[in-house]
Amino acid sequence: TVICILQQILRRFGDWFLFLVTDQAFVTLATDDVYCQGALVLGQSLRNHTTSRKLAVLITPEVSSGMRSVLRSVFDEVTEVDALDSADSVRLALLQRPELGVTFTKLHCWTLTHYSKCVFMDADTLVLCNVDELFDREEFSAAPDSGWPDCFNSGVFVFRPSLKTYNLLLQFAAEHGSFDGGDQGLLNSFFSNWATADIGKHLPFIYNLSSSAVYSYVPAFNHFGRDTKVVHFLGATKPWNYKYNLQTKRVMQDGTTSGSFHQLSFLALWWNIYSASILPLLEKFQKMEESE
Ligand code: UDP
Ligand code: MN
Repeated sequence: TVICILQQILRRFGDWFLFLVTDQAFVTLATDDVYCQGALVLGQSLRNHTTSRKLAVLITPEVSSGMRSVLRSVFDEVTEVDALDSADSVRLALLQRPELGVTFTKLHCWTLTHYSKCVFMDADTLVLCNVDELFDREEFSAAPDSGWPDCFNSGVFVFRPSLKTYNLLLQFAAEHGSFDGGDQGLLNSFFSNWATADIGKHLPFIYNLSSSAVYSYVPAFNHFGRDTKVVHFLGATKPWNYKYNLQTKRVMQDGTTSGSFHQLSFLALWWNIYSASILPLLEKFQKMEESE
């Protein structure tokens, strides 16, 4: 009977644990097949580091059916949402990133109310180790932006899905727009007390290390960089814009791309996952489509 009771306790604990983890998810966004490549590498990197949480990806109608099949083999949940666009060409021009209006689509992550807590990660991020401890944080937690540290970077953040928050965000967007034309400006104005209210909501920079920012403070990178947990390939040139030599396993540079040593080693990590795990999936589903 003692064993029986022990078994029961263990089962209860198991159920409780299962409930916990199905209740929380990493969420990313890809509005086209190109960004899906990033989402797939991110999802695979989370799997490689054995996350106990669910993996969810938001997509828009533009994403092809073949790509959806591939996404389903890496993510637990693939959810189609409408594209939202800030349509703010003036501010986006200031940012020199006309394509970022569509990042308003990110706001849909608050509609995933079957989860109690989520961690949003941009499709151009990559985890280097298990980061499940992020779920210990509360909404709204994020890391400082390297360009303006009183702002957070919206590439990695902890949030609680809620239709109330979602509607407030849409209302705020309609009334005030976004100071940079993208989701980051909007979210920083909405969660405007982030900089001062609660230091517990400041994620360490190693949870959202922008690979280009490394060079503005090299000694700090040399000192802290080995602890990096999440790399963010922020900026106009994404990992998938580089060329990669499958034989030598090296990222190649040409006139349009540039990068220094650390940046290149992070890029090589991204490409290792892409070539080893994602390319075979893409090829498999392509063959399946051709034979249909
Ligand atoms: N995104 C997308 N399609 C786009 C542009 C952006 O799906 O055309 C999503 C994707 O998840 C991306 C995030 O929005 O990681 C933010 O955009 P991006 O990473 O390009 O901005 P940055 O981090 O360079 O400021
Ligand atoms: Mn990004």
